[in-house]
Amino acid sequence: MFDLLNLPGVVPVDMHKESKGFIIVAETAEVEVPCCPKCNITMHKHGTRTNRFSDTPMQMEPVRLDIKRPRFRCESCGHLEMPELSFLDTKRRATHRLVDAIREKCLGTTFRDLARQTGVSANTVKSIAKDLIAEMEETVHYETPVIMGIDEVMLAGDYRCVITNLATNNIFEILEHRTQDHLKPFFKDLADREKVEWVCTDMWRPFKRSFAEYLPNAKLVIDKYHVIQMATKALEEERKKYQSELTRQQRIHVKKSIRWITLKRPHNLSEQEQKALQALRENIPQLAAAYDFKEMFCEIFDEPDKQMAQNAFEAWENSLPDKGLDDFKKLAKTVHNHYEDIFAYWDSPFPITNAYTEAMNGLIKMSNRLGRGYSYEMIRAKTLYSKTARKVSRGLRSGKGQVEYGPYIPSLIEQEDNDNVD
Ligand SMILES: [Zn+2]
Repeated sequence: MFDLLNLPGVVPVDMHKESKGFIIVAETAEVEVPCCPKCNITMHKHGTRTNRFSDTPMQMEPVRLDIKRPRFRCESCGHLEMPELSFLDTKRRATHRLVDAIREKCLGTTFRDLARQTGVSANTVKSIAKDLIAEMEETVHYETPVIMGIDEVMLAGDYRCVITNLATNNIFEILEHRTQDHLKPFFKDLADREKVEWVCTDMWRPFKRSFAEYLPNAKLVIDKYHVIQMATKALEEERKKYQSELTRQQRIHVKKSIRWITLKRPHNLSEQEQKALQALRENIPQLAAAYDFKEMFCEIFDEPDKQMAQNAFEAWENSLPDKGLDDFKKLAKTVHNHYEDIFAYWDSPFPITNAYTEAMNGLIKMSNRLGRGYSYEMIRAKTLYSKTARKVSRGLRSGKGQVEYGPYIPSLIEQEDNDNVD
């Protein structure tokens, strides 16, 4: 029979197809009769044994090898032995080349798919992936971000802490939770932590305490996105308040006709929406006023310098009416509570803002696609260490050779979109 196996020490003698793929029967080539390692006397042949191992797929079908080996016995001590085969991973009951193929693919596809393609159990794929991840932990090191983004995102059933490199647009790390208990050790063990110059995050107060101690050169800037989001929410609250006073019929109509106002900036309004805004000014002036307050607030971030931005905020706050618009007043209070860190936006060498929406949506999409049953650890590893993600994340830096910054966010998203097609 033609040696379709190409494995040292065995020859295929039979092959047939079963519902779950191919079975190839192989026998060991002639072997020397061994000596007993304890008694140092020649052993005797003691029947044969057949063991089943998984091998790399053929014609897109899983392959199982039935390997028939002679067994030897020591007449003196009863020790039993079979010829060892170097291509076998006995722990996994698979060939090394199959284990290698699974390692190559396990971070880029689901364990279930890979188990189906290769005929091994999903748990075996998972265990191979775990070993690979442990190796990656030791060997893969991403360059510490000079400008670091820190955000929360819902992944694998809970809020996780995503650390990004905002200068290069890469994901640097994913922590299990955003708590002092997770952040402190992360900052403490961070290589080159004195290199971090800026940290961009939301208005989560305990954060300042956790990094101040460990990042001696870092300044905090509150992400503009999160501040603006508060203004959007304030407008949303006004719309809800207004709608609650309407009949159901009116409510549906209003919701349809003014849903856009919370989402769009004036320069993005279509002609039709501009007309609707005009109608809003005439018919529901209190809601139009809320829209204008939200817009005025967003424009603060278009100011060219810090002083002008602070003046614009003051003017905005002073123009708020005595009555109503409570959520906008809450927003003003929040700005005062985080004043330094919000206006630090104008101190940085270039506008720092999180790649928030883009990156987080990419991660959420991936997590959803993988489905339930994927732990935080696996999602983290798939994000940080998958081949495609790392392939595009390399850069050259003088003196240090090749450095990696972590998976490049636009490529992660592209990869997700491609994976979703098939
Ligand atoms: Zn013996």
